[in-house]
Amino acid sequence: TAPNKVCILGSGNWGTTAARIIGANVQKLRNFDNEVKMWVYEEMVDGRKLTEIINTDHENVKYLPGHKLPANVVAVPDACEAVRGATHIVVVIPHQFIEHLLKTIHGSVKHGARAISLIKGIVIDKHGMTTMTQLIHRSLAIPVSSLSGANIANEIAEEKYCETTIGCAEPDEAIVWRSLFNTPYFQVNCVSDVIGVEFCGAVKNVVAVGAGFIDGLGLGNNTKAAIIRIGTLEMRRLAMHISGAQIQDSTFNESCGIADVITTCYGGRNRRLAEEFVKTGKPMAQLEQEMLNGQKLQGYLTAGEVYQYISSRGVTDHFPLFTRIYKICYKGEAPQTIFDGLNVDFSQD
Ligand code: NAD
Ligand code: 13P
Repeated sequence: TAPNKVCILGSGNWGTTAARIIGANVQKLRNFDNEVKMWVYEEMVDGRKLTEIINTDHENVKYLPGHKLPANVVAVPDACEAVRGATHIVVVIPHQFIEHLLKTIHGSVKHGARAISLIKGIVIDKHGMTTMTQLIHRSLAIPVSSLSGANIANEIAEEKYCETTIGCAEPDEAIVWRSLFNTPYFQVNCVSDVIGVEFCGAVKNVVAVGAGFIDGLGLGNNTKAAIIRIGTLEMRRLAMHISGAQIQDSTFNESCGIADVITTCYGGRNRRLAEEFVKTGKPMAQLEQEMLNGQKLQGYLTAGEVYQYISSRGVTDHFPLFTRIYKICYKGEAPQTIFDGLNVDFSQD
């Protein structure tokens, strides 16, 4: 029997797309078991259990309709059962649910297992700003890597060429993770900056909300480019603030950095719903329910988390764009105020 076994925790739009890739790749890897268990948060779809639909029709009709999954991907409704025996755990759920999931699986993770987080999100807790790999490591005491990039899931499911970044501290481990994810249309580059990779993926969602406001206001490409430029500089500044020099500047040049800011500001869900927020005046949570058919947004939550961090440290003046986006999302301030105070000098950063 093969020494390694993968499990995927999560089966949303990105989780299911990742399962398509991993399911196909393990079939070619001698050191991996053929079966890939995928934990599915169980729900009924047209009178049938989603796990049953996936296991019979090999399609996640709710979160990735129109794309077949390989038959070796097996949907499991119990997260502990999914994780049992796995040596390689791929965590890909909306960040708002991570703490509950970690409590659930805590006693079921195999000794010697390792994990990779595909989640874009951060939490604020007693440690300050905590990333997903830090949270998973604290809970499960296993090595945790990160994967993030300019990766709109539907485009990857259509096998359109793109790049992604794996952050992994151990070069030998990075090779194994790469073998699970890399395909001709999904090009993986590995770096050692685990936190930097996931930090970029989380915080660019705040910039995407700003980009959506610009679209909602009916402004043009130049305006959006300004938001992308200032947003990226605030991301870099925040990275420095939370980590000192631990997050490497070069990480911003990878797919997880500037490339992801661009794709999300043009094609992401956070952008789309922020545009609707301006046009309709409805709260983000309501739009999420009305427009996403169960998919979840990270951007407006991350805007709240970033604001909590910068305001508790008295540095909101250094992050005018993040501050405006927060106030527009949560404090009823007009979207037009997004430009207030944006003429900040970043030249000394
Ligand atoms: P999604 O937003 O498409 O779907 C939501 C998922 O959450 C569903 O699987 C649903 O069953 C599950 N869920 C609902 N309630 C739950 C609960 N109480 N507990 C646990 N799970 C629950 O999911 P996604 O797109 O796979 O997003 C997962 C992560 O991947 C996010 O951090 C996201 O930012 C990131 N990501 C998404 C994309 C993309 O294009 N979709 C690309 C890259 C990264
Ligand atoms: P959205 O969640 O805004 O769709 O962004 C997806 C993403 O992270 C693309 O890289």
